[in-house]
Amino acid sequence: MATLLSAVKALRAHPDCGAVVCSSVYETAPMGPQDQPDYLNAVVGLQTELSAFHLLSELQHIEYSHGRTRDGERWGPRTLDLDLLLFADEIIDTPKLSVPHPGIAERSFVLLPLAELAPDLIVPNKGSVSNLLDQCSPNGIRRLNSTL
Ligand code: AMP
Repeated sequence: MATLLSAVKALRAHPDCGAVVCSSVYETAPMGPQDQPDYLNAVVGLQTELSAFHLLSELQHIEYSHGRTRDGERWGPRTLDLDLLLFADEIIDTPKLSVPHPGIAERSFVLLPLAELAPDLIVPNKGSVSNLLDQCSPNGIRRLNSTL
């Protein structure tokens, strides 16, 4: 939780990010190997004049400054994983950046916090967040009382 709080603080302090809003925090069973601690997930909304690619590199900078390395197994334990879920209504499909983030439409640990901030938001080519949430099962997810 301290890492999430610190990451949000870094976004709030970033000179090119404004109007930062945060969802509740959700505790979720890991997607990959099960012999790792549960994950904490949240969604942050913000305004920026940065390009999507520049924003991604700023997010990666925040990850690294929180001890993130990229030498572990895929879906293994991570100190901090900041994904760019959506960037206005843009569709970006490059090896470095895919927006909307792949899997956004099926992952309840993404859709639940996203629906808190923007239930009517349209995920390009997928439909509204609340409709997508209706179609997936929020099993094994617990909303925590802590706020970011
Ligand atoms: P991850 O291990 O989840 O942090 O992601 C590994 C790589 O995915 C990063 O180096 C990014 O270049 C790439 N990537 C592609 N699309 C996205 C996205 N929407 N958000 C974050 N990373 C992305």
